[in-house]
Amino acid sequence: MRDPREEIRERIDLVELVSGYVRLERAGSNFKGLCPFHTERTPSFYVSPSLNRFHCFGCGASGDAFAFLMRIEGISFREALHRLAERAGVELRRESLARQEAEDEIERLRRAVFAAHFYYRQCLQRAPRARQYLQQRGLTPETIERFQLGYAPNGWDYLLRFLQKHQITIEDALSAGLIRQGEHGHYDYLRDRVVFPIHDAAGRVIAFGGRTLSDEEPKYLNTPETPLFEKRNTLYGWHLARGAIVRQRSAIVVEGYMDLIMLHQFGFEHAVATLGTAFTEQHAAQLRRLVERVYLLYDSDSAGIRAALRAAEVLEEAGVPTFIVELPMGEDPDSLLHKAGAEALQQALDAARPASLFGLEQVIQEHLIRAGVERVELLDLPARARVLQDSLRFVARLRSPVEQTACLERLTPLSPAYLTSPQAALEALQRDVRRLQREQRRAPGGRASRRAEPGGQTSRRAEPAGGRASRQAETLVGGDTDATAGEGTPPPALSVQLPRAVIDAERTILRAALTAETAAMVLDQLPHIEWSLPEHRALAQALQQLPQPPYRYAERELLNALQDEPQQALLTSLLLQTEPPLSPTTVAECLAYLQRRRERARRLQILNELTRSDQPPDPEKWQEYWRLRVES
Ligand SMILES: [Zn+2]
Repeated sequence: MRDPREEIRERIDLVELVSGYVRLERAGSNFKGLCPFHTERTPSFYVSPSLNRFHCFGCGASGDAFAFLMRIEGISFREALHRLAERAGVELRRESLARQEAEDEIERLRRAVFAAHFYYRQCLQRAPRARQYLQQRGLTPETIERFQLGYAPNGWDYLLRFLQKHQITIEDALSAGLIRQGEHGHYDYLRDRVVFPIHDAAGRVIAFGGRTLSDEEPKYLNTPETPLFEKRNTLYGWHLARGAIVRQRSAIVVEGYMDLIMLHQFGFEHAVATLGTAFTEQHAAQLRRLVERVYLLYDSDSAGIRAALRAAEVLEEAGVPTFIVELPMGEDPDSLLHKAGAEALQQALDAARPASLFGLEQVIQEHLIRAGVERVELLDLPARARVLQDSLRFVARLRSPVEQTACLERLTPLSPAYLTSPQAALEALQRDVRRLQREQRRAPGGRASRRAEPGGQTSRRAEPAGGRASRQAETLVGGDTDATAGEGTPPPALSVQLPRAVIDAERTILRAALTAETAAMVLDQLPHIEWSLPEHRALAQALQQLPQPPYRYAERELLNALQDEPQQALLTSLLLQTEPPLSPTTVAECLAYLQRRRERARRLQILNELTRSDQPPDPEKWQEYWRLRVES
């Protein structure tokens, strides 16, 4: 049987899929648009229907429909497989009975939740009190519709009876968190509450939150976690916000349903909310793929500030630049928007401070409050020293050197050296921070040991999947030392910039091999070129191993003949590249350029050996050296 992945790939219209996220325009037989994976003004993102792949010349992102969906939605391969299968109308084979059963259960729970949602929405139509409440809170009918709000009526088993009438079993209703088991039987989980459906990334309802209409506590109540719903993986509003997050390359994070809904209603559609849980690593991972910065818009009370600082720490650990938005005292996003409108909120966003500076301010504030003074200058000397000590410990934990420096600049007036010279003070503080960092690394459970955890990929910002090639190209060990670094030799500690021209020349030669008019010039040369990038070498080898010259194949066939993704990505970018136009002259120049570089490298290597060796000079080596010297 055919690989379902392949079948799905063939059936999905990649241009149509991508168009859901990126505005594409025709470019010859391909389409191009602004890359959704990096910020750019002129399009370098291409979709090729003939190759059935996308490729970005800016950031190197590249791949098929699966790669696109995984990346833009921040989902796993499995999830992408399911969604594309659904879209393509391909039925996936079940791998095992157990999985089948688990999926059957998921399906049943989905049905239960779906039915409950249908019921809650109907109830809202018949509940003037609930509608009035929403209206008082300032929600427009469009917003209520967009967020698909509902109402859970005031009674013990209305929902239960509705579900039973629609062939949902009590077991499923229990597992889906819709009802509860009590001493006297089962009863509805949410009663007399406005209902906020919670969606997954695909926009399917998976759980509910409820806001009481009476004085009952708690004010907000979520249905419990189920196989469908895990709080730590779920951001409320994600399915509505994702498009705007991709466009704006940033996200606003708030803490509650109402704040989120109001932000969207006022046009801040890149907002998402955590659901009665702290901001988690999973949340950070979900955002990190799409954003360049995150704004934390939490309540301005002390609990809100602590929560924001904790969230900032999680985001900083994931490498996401984070800003904390401060609202006027006593306001929350909802109240501010109603009083002062979108402009006031935008001002607060624009004025948001990096989380590190904000955190530092909190450390200082705590000391001031304890001492009962308003400014650091009013503290006595021992107290100042204590503030400085705590502040430096905070700074030492920061990842980004830029933020460290920004924080230290704020602290210089506290340094005893400040009176002599601010610059001297800054340098003294920098030394202190380095010392603290060394101590933290030595301490058990310190940063260094945490980073070393297997699978702990939190230490660096996730790289774009395709971005590796271009990044490698920037810092790869190369230049004139690469001739000495044979295979299996560990790369020298010092990396030398690999000139762009080398990579370009190699690409031109590879392109020439794919083109009928120029292939003859280069095919024989491929084995002799010392490729500077491993993927260039791998592709050259693969092309040589084909039973026919590469240009005899249809593009798609050629792509399928290659085994691994990096090679396919490289081939895609070569096939899409049109500049510079290939001509025999260009190709010959590139070959000559690489030849000259190779000889120069060899020359330097010989010279090195000759001058370093304690042995008397080897006459043959000298001869070779002079021959190379004269010839090049
Ligand atoms: Zn890109």
